[in-house]
Amino acid sequence: MLRSHTCGQLRKSDVGFQATLCGWVESKRDHGGAVFIDLRDRYGLTQVVIGPPEAGSAQIEDAKKVGNEWVIKVTGTVANRLIGKNNDKIATGEIELRCPAIEVLNPSAPPPFTPGQADLPNEDLRLKYRYLDLRRSQMQRSLITRSKIIKEMRDYFAEHDFIDVETPILGRSTPEGARDYLVPSRVHPEHFYALPQSPQLYKQILMVAGFDRYVQVAKCFRDEDLRADRQPEFTQLDLEMSFVDAEDIIGMIDGLVLRVVKSILGKDTTLPLPRMTYDEAMKRYGSDQPDLRFGMEITDITDIAKTVEFRVFRGTADGGGFVRGIKVEGRAEEFSRRRLDELTEQCKRDFGAKGLAWFRVDPDGSLWSPTSKNFTPDELEKIKTAMSAVPGDMLLFLADTWASTCKGLAGLRKRLGAELKLYAADALHCSWIVEFPMFEKDAEADRWNAMHHPFTAPLKSEMHLLDSDPSKCHAQAYDLVINGSEAGGGTIRIHDATSQSKVFDLLGIDEATARDRFGFLLDALKFGAPPHGGIALGVDRWVMLLSGLENIREVIAFPKTQKASDLMTEAPGTVDVAQLTELHLRTVPPKP
Ligand code: ASP
Repeated sequence: MLRSHTCGQLRKSDVGFQATLCGWVESKRDHGGAVFIDLRDRYGLTQVVIGPPEAGSAQIEDAKKVGNEWVIKVTGTVANRLIGKNNDKIATGEIELRCPAIEVLNPSAPPPFTPGQADLPNEDLRLKYRYLDLRRSQMQRSLITRSKIIKEMRDYFAEHDFIDVETPILGRSTPEGARDYLVPSRVHPEHFYALPQSPQLYKQILMVAGFDRYVQVAKCFRDEDLRADRQPEFTQLDLEMSFVDAEDIIGMIDGLVLRVVKSILGKDTTLPLPRMTYDEAMKRYGSDQPDLRFGMEITDITDIAKTVEFRVFRGTADGGGFVRGIKVEGRAEEFSRRRLDELTEQCKRDFGAKGLAWFRVDPDGSLWSPTSKNFTPDELEKIKTAMSAVPGDMLLFLADTWASTCKGLAGLRKRLGAELKLYAADALHCSWIVEFPMFEKDAEADRWNAMHHPFTAPLKSEMHLLDSDPSKCHAQAYDLVINGSEAGGGTIRIHDATSQSKVFDLLGIDEATARDRFGFLLDALKFGAPPHGGIALGVDRWVMLLSGLENIREVIAFPKTQKASDLMTEAPGTVDVAQLTELHLRTVPPKP
């Protein structure tokens, strides 16, 4: 090594000894007679002093020329800092390294921003100069946490007899419901590989092949419109097990949560993690990924709405719609007219609701709002009782279809939970949502779509519904939810070709298409497929949630922007005509 210590290592006990450090110049202070440099590496910061009596004036002048982010090497004596100059914010804050000279290993061009600066530069700039951004201690911490989490995962599964198997990146399309990234084949003109949306089909085949327990840290690719917590290429902890039911998979992941949460956050987790069916989650929280760090459950007052005069409530309830609401306990005084107008606006704009009805519970216990005059005192009393409301509470209602009330109230809950700080900043809540519907209606195409993917098995007790009423059929499916985000999802699979064909049929996948797309899986299922199931955990999201961050790009070394480009390498880029010709391709510019 070019150094004897790292920049985070020297302590008071090293005073009087010689040390050699290498690192980047985080900052430099020129005090005329002496130069002070904060030298940084991954491990920390050390104060380096180039001044008399160790350094002569020529060496001091050389040190003055050094700029931010230059890479230097220094050898000197560890000394106590001058009285009153200790810095208790850093681990090396009691000492400094007094050096006769510096050795420049590599100068740096003036950086567009410095990793040590207090204000965060604009994100595009950070992504373009990612190597500078990755020098920031926050980014280093995130990637170190990521590395630790993945190591814990790998260790845990190895201890439970899982075998790590790599599956191809160039393959056939996997039906996870997103658009594929395609790779043209040079050898087979007009043929394409699809990048895996997940290793789903391969891992099922590994079960047929008798591997019993498979795991992989797998890269997956989905060409979807991006949101703050999504990336076109992302990492899954993907696994599959044979001879199991849903409880076995859930139990295995419970153990993983316990282990990772303990090792990363030092917190204990009570097992088993709580679970709730999908139907119950939609009823109580309007969402299949409810944030359970706080309460604020939905109450359905449709029955009351059927008996009131108020047109909006009555009309909706009589027309088969729902009137449902949430209660913000004791915080009515924080709902100014402006905030209420804003919430109403958001309900219309983002959640497709027609409006927002609200009541404040006044100190005398009466419900007040501009619309309360449309209700009789008796009707208001019924609403108050149904909501168990007391003075100081704020009641918010939506009158709409089931789906719209779910979407709107879930959105309001999420926003208010964060805005009103209804949970501690470091709260962590992990739970399972189980028994999802097998299918969801694709209204546009007037057919069923698989809610998870087409290989998902129905609940054994509801198998007959595949024939009589598929809309009511639930799946052996389970999602792990952490702080209101989906952190993983999986299912028990169909393991016989007959049931699989029936599900394809319902999904409108005809025999020829099924053969063409998944013929190999259907064949494999005929050769003694064991009952099996699995799950995939979103590694990026786990790291983000366990680090208390809100942007997935903060936990990925080289992420893509919302527009799926890499600002550092400028991918995607154009290619030579010769390359296209080799691939038997011609591009057509988009219509203006
Ligand atoms: N392949 C699924 C997914 O990526 C996970 C699973 O069913 O195991 O969501």
